[in-house]
Amino acid sequence: MKIAVLALQGAFAEHEKALHRLGIETIELRKKQDLHTRFDALILPGGESTVQGKLLKEFGMFEELKYRIENGLPVMATCAGVILLAQTLVNDDRNYFKTFPIKVVRNAYGRQLGSFHQKGTLKDIGAFDMEFIRAPLIASASPDCTVLGTVKESIAAVRYQNQLAFTFHPELTDDLAVHQYFCQKMVH
Ligand code: GLN
Repeated sequence: MKIAVLALQGAFAEHEKALHRLGIETIELRKKQDLHTRFDALILPGGESTVQGKLLKEFGMFEELKYRIENGLPVMATCAGVILLAQTLVNDDRNYFKTFPIKVVRNAYGRQLGSFHQKGTLKDIGAFDMEFIRAPLIASASPDCTVLGTVKESIAAVRYQNQLAFTFHPELTDDLAVHQYFCQKMVH
């Protein structure tokens, strides 16, 4: 199994470390030619969605990745990555892949609560320590999505077919359960 991590900006190295700890091989997607390497799944890391979205398009990777996601490539998105997948951004005119039928609010927790920490339980994954950093909020998900966890009365973890979205940063904790779930349950 080989997992590609979008490595244009943000917390991609931490995802790679988590995958390496699970014994999984990774490749970094930095430019169009990197898409020629075979990989089985994709991780969209946290960071700044506007920068990532702009670079994806500038570096000619956007259309190809959108096509692959629409055609079943397993993808796990954290934080800014969730913004890239969202079908609707409530407080932003921009949009990106639009493959995940969720409504997302950027920087939803305000300046004071911009970053916080919350223990919770995720369906099919278990107890998990969630680290939020200027996180988006998933205001709603279409009925064919499976909600895996909620925090402060909004959705923090959700699955839709081959796509998995977390508004927090599982790669910033030592717990590998989220990455393990993705690799074991969604990547074949
Ligand atoms: N606030 C960032 C954005 O809007 C997301 C924050 C993150 O990924 N930690 O893109």
